[in-house]
Amino acid sequence: MFNGLMVRNMITKKFFFVHSILLLCFFSAAAQDIDKIINATEVERIEKTLSSDDMQGRKPFTPGIDKAADFIADEFSKHKLSYFGKNNSWFQEFSMIKAKPLSAMVLIDRDTVPAGNFYINSTAASIDYTSTDGFEIVQIKKDADYGKMIQPLFDAKKNILVLIDTAHATRFKRLKNFSSRARFASPYTQVFILTASGVPTSFELHAKNELAEQKLKNVVAMLPGKSKKNEYVIFSGHYDHLGIGKPNANQDSIYNGANDDAAGTTGVLLLANYFSRLKNNERTIIFVAFTAEEMGGYGSRYFSQQLDADKVVAMFNIEMIGTESKWGTNSAYITGYEKSDMGKILQANLADSKFHFEPDPYPKQNLFYRSDNATLAALGVPAHSISTSKMDSEKFYHTQEDEIETLDMNNMAEIIKAIAISSKTIISGKDTPSRVEKAND
Ligand SMILES: [Zn+2]
Repeated sequence: MFNGLMVRNMITKKFFFVHSILLLCFFSAAAQDIDKIINATEVERIEKTLSSDDMQGRKPFTPGIDKAADFIADEFSKHKLSYFGKNNSWFQEFSMIKAKPLSAMVLIDRDTVPAGNFYINSTAASIDYTSTDGFEIVQIKKDADYGKMIQPLFDAKKNILVLIDTAHATRFKRLKNFSSRARFASPYTQVFILTASGVPTSFELHAKNELAEQKLKNVVAMLPGKSKKNEYVIFSGHYDHLGIGKPNANQDSIYNGANDDAAGTTGVLLLANYFSRLKNNERTIIFVAFTAEEMGGYGSRYFSQQLDADKVVAMFNIEMIGTESKWGTNSAYITGYEKSDMGKILQANLADSKFHFEPDPYPKQNLFYRSDNATLAALGVPAHSISTSKMDSEKFYHTQEDEIETLDMNNMAEIIKAIAISSKTIISGKDTPSRVEKAND
């Protein structure tokens, strides 16, 4: 199949201007070939492997996700693709730090803060401060939007002393859950204190942590562009999921994540196969299976720091395409549709097709900011997620029942083909989607 298409491709090129009839043949041949590469049988083969019980729900830091990574790498190896950037394999490895508190003491205004009333966010083995020098002070007052204020503080690139009004006591207690989480290594410390008082006149902090380094990896492949090597188009999906939990009524404890997001990963692998055979991309294409999406998008966050976001022309993040959308088969939605004109470009390329993209019908769910497209979108990239998931009624979302039997292989193949076809003018360099407004840091 590979050679056949290449030969036809070369012949067509040679007679491009003189034999328009051959050109027509090429297009019909290409149309045929897409069905040979992206079809329900192939979708099922990949889906079945990624969502099998053998992969144990693909949770980061488990053998199950390593098996999935190896499988994805093996698939990339079958095609004529290159390693990405400075990587010397299909794996883009990075580590995170898990800090287990051994001892901690916080004093404000010379009073010891009770153990349950502070939380220290740090990846340092030992922390000692005797004043608020070098700390920014943030107050989360009684009437403040706690959830909105607290989230960004965890990843802040500065020391912060966060004074939280006791009115938020119930939600504050949940911060404890964060202490068992792995984080990117950071030289900065954020201290969260539940207090009825205002800004303290004196402050002391002494803590020791036991650190454990935990390794993660994205799986990445690249298809260099013919003429616009420094302009990237990204196809992505996340291959991690939730692992093994409590058994349900059917004694099933494995969160297979067939739809979330073995489906998107399947899309990435089939697109890698398709474009590597087509081999006519003017722009460079990057295919990436992200890790640790479910933990907080760590894979895509790391990936986004390893390339120049200004060079990324478009990102197609594929997230849960295994079930029918609310409009039925042959349709999917694009998150953040109005934030760039990428959706319109994709639609125009599908003008002669039965397939249609729609704007995200669940705007209240903030889906644009809840998947792996978010990091690059914040940097101005037209980075959108494509999905069919009915977020108001998707029965098996984040349950043990998210299994291959609940998915529609034919429809998935149609969606993946539609993504391939709709991206053609972006890949050829003819269309460049408008940029998304950058988020303020
Ligand atoms: Zn999920």
